[in-house]
Amino acid sequence: MPGFEVFGAEEKKEIAEVLDTGVLFRYEFPNERRGIYKVRQFEEEFARYCGVKHAQAVTSGTAALKVALAAMGVGPGDEVITQGFTFVATWEAIFDVGAVPVFAEVDDTLNLDPTDLEAKITPQTRAIIPVHMMGAPARMAEIMAIADRHGIPVLEDTAQAPGTAIDGKKCGSFGLCGTFSFDPVKTMTTGEGGMIITDDQDLWRRMSEYQDHGHDHVPNPGARGGEGRSFIGFNYRMMELQGAIGLAQLAKLDHIIAAQRRNKEALRQVVSRLPGVTFRTVLDPAGDNASFLAFFLPDAASALKVNETLAANGAGAVYFANNTWHYYPKWEHLLAGSTLAKSGWPFKVKEGGADGRRRVHYDPRALPKSAAIMDRLLVYPVPIKLSEERLEQIEQAVKAAC
Ligand SMILES: *Cc1c(COP(=O)(O)O)cnc(C)c1O
Repeated sequence: MPGFEVFGAEEKKEIAEVLDTGVLFRYEFPNERRGIYKVRQFEEEFARYCGVKHAQAVTSGTAALKVALAAMGVGPGDEVITQGFTFVATWEAIFDVGAVPVFAEVDDTLNLDPTDLEAKITPQTRAIIPVHMMGAPARMAEIMAIADRHGIPVLEDTAQAPGTAIDGKKCGSFGLCGTFSFDPVKTMTTGEGGMIITDDQDLWRRMSEYQDHGHDHVPNPGARGGEGRSFIGFNYRMMELQGAIGLAQLAKLDHIIAAQRRNKEALRQVVSRLPGVTFRTVLDPAGDNASFLAFFLPDAASALKVNETLAANGAGAVYFANNTWHYYPKWEHLLAGSTLAKSGWPFKVKEGGADGRRRVHYDPRALPKSAAIMDRLLVYPVPIKLSEERLEQIEQAVKAAC
């Protein structure tokens, strides 16, 4: 699953080309860099790979979400709907632009449940963020139909699903924009890094300017040019070394996915022997990036019992129902409203004294449908390189669990 499994001569060559120029910055220094613009080239090739017009590189997948939301005009007073099974970054970015995250259920795709999404739309809803968790797509046809009916833009959090597609169309290209992460454990990695893709040139220009302090990129979209600024921004610029590694990793992405598909199928055959096991709904198996194998046991007790035996035999699966990084009822800081801000923001609004009025409150029991699904779920990450010995070990563990 992580792209570092296949680091090699290609990444080294790309990095060496950058170091030879001495220019680590993505903009300017035209004489020194001798035509080498790795981040810009990475953006162009990533956009082409995804079948969209524009891509904006940034420092992380979390920054990608924030820059996208900012460019979409989302801010205080707005609500953004996302799912209760995702990485904390999705809702951190929503809070960071001043908006309020609203959590909806997941269904058997382990992604946003369209019915619950529609039920949670209010007059304040300004964006919808379906997350393509663990390499497999959300129900984009239904989600886009609902979003269009209500006139609400869709941002796809595609951090875990580069290369994933539905009927040949890449995830991240269904909504207004899509974000990606290249952090150390993602399908392709640049150590830290992120990308936003879109067909909307105005949105792209706003993202490009926002991630560069608001500096004018108008006469030169995607790059610097003018002297002024039309809005305040921040610094989320990717550096050339990340762009260089990204180019090498992107060239390997389809090979990574092909290897994962083979390994996932091998793991699926082994896991199929468990009595009562069923598998996650993958809308288009031909477009699966196959980073994870997700399977269900008939109930929570059997999932825990099976996993105990798997773990005792050296092949424990991830039990996301107890996972504090990815699952709503386990986000203790969100539920408690913990923040460094003395005012209590973003959970409280200050009205007079330090002890302000509670602005948002998150009830751990708010997503019962998700709980009924997550409680039965076990997950194996799928490696790019799966040795015979490791597969044999998992096979023995599954036999013991049967
Ligand atoms: C990894 C991840 C992110 C954040 O990406 P970083 O590059 O680590 O900041 C956002 N959303 C999801 C679903 C992720 O898995």
